[in-house]
Amino acid sequence: MKTWIFIILTSVGWLWFRSASAQPIVKISNTEDSVAVKEQALQYLAYFDITEDVYISIVFAKHMPLSLDGITFCSNQMKPLSHRIIKVRIASRLSERKRRLVLAHEIIHVKQYAKGELKVIDDKKVMWKGHTFHDHESGSTSQLSPWEREAYRNDNLVAKISRKRAEPLLAESID
Ligand SMILES: [Zn+2]
Repeated sequence: MKTWIFIILTSVGWLWFRSASAQPIVKISNTEDSVAVKEQALQYLAYFDITEDVYISIVFAKHMPLSLDGITFCSNQMKPLSHRIIKVRIASRLSERKRRLVLAHEIIHVKQYAKGELKVIDDKKVMWKGHTFHDHESGSTSQLSPWEREAYRNDNLVAKISRKRAEPLLAESID
């Protein structure tokens, strides 16, 4: 009896928490594993405190070039920060383990778009934290761009939270 009361109170508390803060809407397509992927994505989003009112579409793509495991872009960049539509494409050929890593990497780019740190002005110009980068500086060849450096530096760490749950890492960062 007591257990039931506890469960009911917990779910009411959770619903209240969910409605009290804005949450990104996450939609997963083209995978049989969408429940697990959504849970991972929500954990990563919570880790980065992404509470912006953005719409995130994660699609598993069969026809990605072999050199590309994932890609993230923002389709309505010039709109206000909320209401942004951020699209993530992940190669469907990846193993579960690799997929977790690539998803973590791409969610870091989602964070960069959602927080307005990264803005693609046109196909030659990108704004990163208020600085303009031109095509040749953004680093597809010799040097990684700062937004890719940030993603590569943290993706392993972020991927681990979907195994251990977020608590240990969050506890470290609060400290
Ligand atoms: Zn990247």
